[in-house]
Amino acid sequence: MKKKVAVIGSGFASLAAACYLARDGYNVEIFEKNANIGGRARQLKKDGFCFDIGPTWYWMPDVFERFFADFGKQPSDYYELKKLSPAYKVFFGKNDSITIEDSLEKICAAFETEEPGSSKKLKQFIEEAKNNYDIAIKDLVYRPGVSPLELITPTTAGKIGQFFSTISKEVRKEFTNQKLIQILEFPVLFLGAKASNTPAFYSFMNYADFGLGTWHPKGGMYKVIEAMETLANSLGVKITTNAPVSEIFVENNTATGMQVNGERIEADYILSGADYHHTETLLPEYKRQYKESYWQKKTFAPSALLFFAGFNKKLENVTHHTLFFDTDFEKHAKAIYDDAEWPENPLFYASFPSVTDDAAAPEGKEAGIFLIPLAPDVEDTPEIRENYFQKIITRFESLTNQNVTDHLLFKESFCVKDFKEDYNSYKGNAYGLANTLLQTAFLRPKLKSKKVHKLFFTGQLSVPGPGVPPSLISGKLAAGLIQKEN
Ligand SMILES: Cc1cc2nc3c(=O)[nH]c(=O)nc-3n(C[C@H](O)[C@H](O)[C@H](O)COP(=O)(O)OP(=O)(O)OC[C@H]3O[C@@H](n4cnc5c(N)ncnc54)[C@H](O)[C@@H]3O)c2cc1C
Repeated sequence: MKKKVAVIGSGFASLAAACYLARDGYNVEIFEKNANIGGRARQLKKDGFCFDIGPTWYWMPDVFERFFADFGKQPSDYYELKKLSPAYKVFFGKNDSITIEDSLEKICAAFETEEPGSSKKLKQFIEEAKNNYDIAIKDLVYRPGVSPLELITPTTAGKIGQFFSTISKEVRKEFTNQKLIQILEFPVLFLGAKASNTPAFYSFMNYADFGLGTWHPKGGMYKVIEAMETLANSLGVKITTNAPVSEIFVENNTATGMQVNGERIEADYILSGADYHHTETLLPEYKRQYKESYWQKKTFAPSALLFFAGFNKKLENVTHHTLFFDTDFEKHAKAIYDDAEWPENPLFYASFPSVTDDAAAPEGKEAGIFLIPLAPDVEDTPEIRENYFQKIITRFESLTNQNVTDHLLFKESFCVKDFKEDYNSYKGNAYGLANTLLQTAFLRPKLKSKKVHKLFFTGQLSVPGPGVPPSLISGKLAAGLIQKEN
């Protein structure tokens, strides 16, 4: 008889793991607490507008290809992918912006205009970043973080210095222009920590940005979730929504099942893609691997205040992805990582998917997503949210030279409280545990429980880390560890 794996959650990591396990002969059932699957990558539909609630940047297309290839498929079997041109635009002030085009040559030209001599340095920087990408993404991140020895290979031995330097230091050695420095430090924000706290080896994110480019699945990132759902269904995975898991049963140090909506579900293995901290609270206290003090000391990726806005006209001077770096980043980073308070003048990111994708808004209208990164667990009230909307929309209007307030049809918001309520997120973190030096690979929370047999974890708080591509990899790694048990 097939062994049964009960999977908690239906985010990218859970869906990926479920596909691998079903392909390899397990009887897999997913239990998702929410009414819709996708976890942080759910979708909001309103009045003909369509928004991705979580991820909007499709980076590292090779990781998605590798995932689907494991099932004899390719992304184009499920969704239409387009390389964005330009990739994004960054505002530094009024009439002061840099557009990042879709090729390194064009980006070099933009750099040269800002800082003479910088294009040559950029090419060298990206060459090194590509080299790191080849080592990291094609190999290292596909290791399960079981032992430090996984990281020691002939190629990494030569890179050891890069683990003890930071992105910030390396970028500043080569570039002096503040705008270029900010652009080069931007990609590692996806890893959840600031550049001054992220090992230089992670410059592979710069290659993901400038080398591989920014892509968009027509219809939004949720298309990828739908693709994985179709794949999972075809492999026989059963998905049950509105199914919150309230307890994991442990007998003789072994996970034997879980409680879902008052029903006992028996399973040979339990794999949780829910936030790691939350999953451990489903166990008796003495079976948890990490104490509260462990989590409190960790560097979490930021939370976020998000707005999903519908406008009754097409907006000007914006691209699909637009960054607003017109205020002091150091002060904002201090508010997030050191002071755990609301930033006075936040940087923010805005996405207008309807600039390139008709499916995102009705004809002649624009869909806008605004995101302010925040410290986890800051106070979250309707008044504070509104105050910050006013702050950023005023700046947005001034920087892009237009009135949008009078054209706002509606706006919905999502913040710390929602992250906690919707995803059982620890302190309302948006995207997991940051990839700092001491939170890399084998130093992250383990994929396999050290205290309970047959209990496994996956997702952005575990190995390899935050982001959609790492979550896909995390699912594969966790499935691999379960297969190894047999
Ligand atoms: C606002 C935002 C923007 C982002 N932008 C990007 C981006 O542009 N590009 C990128 O690559 N990444 C981005 N990320 C990160 C990326 O979305 C995440 O790393 C990834 O989606 C995490 O997937 P996961 O499977 O680990 O977790 P999740 O998606 O959180 O899945 C966990 C699931 O478990 C469920 N669950 C929790 N508790 C229970 C329970 N008790 N019972 C049953 N189910 C439960 C949750 O409801 C959820 O569905 C962003 C994230 C956010 C929040």
